[in-house]
Amino acid sequence: AKSQGRGCYALFDQSMHERAETRMRIEGDLRMAIQRDEFVLHYQPIVDLESGHLEGVETLVRWNNRDRGLVQPNDFISIAEETRLIIPIGEWILKEACRQFAEWRRTLGEHAPPCFHVNASRLQMLNPGFVEMVTDCLYENDIPSQCLHLEITESVLIQEPGTIVRTLDALRDVGVLIDIDDFGTGYSSLSCLHEFPIDVLKIDRVFVNNMRSVKDAAALLHVILTLADDLDLQVIAEGVETPEQLATLQSMGCQYAQGFFFSKPLAVDEFEAFAMKAAN
Ligand code: C2E
Ligand code: CA
Ligand code: CA
Ligand code: CA
Repeated sequence: AKSQGRGCYALFDQSMHERAETRMRIEGDLRMAIQRDEFVLHYQPIVDLESGHLEGVETLVRWNNRDRGLVQPNDFISIAEETRLIIPIGEWILKEACRQFAEWRRTLGEHAPPCFHVNASRLQMLNPGFVEMVTDCLYENDIPSQCLHLEITESVLIQEPGTIVRTLDALRDVGVLIDIDDFGTGYSSLSCLHEFPIDVLKIDRVFVNNMRSVKDAAALLHVILTLADDLDLQVIAEGVETPEQLATLQSMGCQYAQGFFFSKPLAVDEFEAFAMKAAN
C-alpha cells in the first residue's frame, strides 16, 4: 500500500485503526455477555441418509447483544479465542447444551435426538479442567457420555498434538465421541489419521457444494469415504443444500448429512417442531 502514495497509505492505516477499535469494543461487550445472559444456542439437525431419521443435533452459538442484534459466531468466536474468553463462553455453551439435551430426553420422548454435537476450541481442549468439566456436566444432567460428540478442527490436532491427544484419550475413555470438523480443509495428512483417537469425520461443505462443478471434489469425496470406511470412522457430510447433492452422497454410501436441504440452524422451539415431525 505504501508504494501507491500517501493517500492510499493513510486510508489503509485508518481502516486498520478502526478494525482494532471495533475488536476492542466487541471484546469489552463479550466480557459482560455471560453475566447478561446474552448467548443463545441454535440447533441444526443431522440426518441418517438411509432411514431418514434424526441422527443428532449440532449446537451453534449466537450472541444476542442489545446494540448489535443477533451476532453470528464468525463475527465473535475468533475474538473470544484471542482473548481466551472462549474458555468461560465455551463452558456456558456446553452446560446449556447439556441442560437442553437432557430436557429433550424428558419432553420429546422417542422424538428426542439420540445425540448432540458441541463445537470445542483449541484453548478449551488445552485447559486443564476441561475433561472434568465435561464429565461433571454429563453426570449432573444424567446424560450417557456416548450421547455427546465434541467437534474439533484438524488444526487443533496438528498443534501440540501430545497434549491434545491425551485430552482426547481421556474424553474417549469416558465414552465421549470426537468429530473432526471441516475435514479436508486443514493440513492433516490422510496417512496419519489412524494415529488420532477420533470417531467421526465431518466432511467440509466445499467438497459437497462443488461435487458437480469440480471433478476433483467428487473424487476427493470418494477417497474420504473409502478411507473412513477402512478406519471404521463414521462420516457426516456438511452443507448439503440440493437434492442432487443428497442423491450423489447416497450413491457414494455416505451415512449422515447436515445442511440447508434438511434445515438451517433453528431456534429451540423450531427445532422441537422439526423433531416432532421427523421419522423415528
Ligand atoms: P461449523 O462448526 O462448521 O458450523 C457449520 C456452519 O455452517 C454453521 O454456521 C451453519 O449455519 C452453516 N451451515 C449449515 N448448513 C449449511 C449449508 O447447507 N450451507 C451453508 N452455506 N452453510 C451451512 P454458523 O452457525 O454461522 O457457525 C460458523 C462457525 O462458528 C462454526 O462452523 C464453528 O466453527 C463456529 N461456532 C459456532 N458455534 C460455536 C460454538 O458453540 N463454539 C465454538 N468454539 N465455535 C462455534
Ligand atoms: Ca461444527
Ligand atoms: Ca463444519
Ligand atoms: Ca466400516
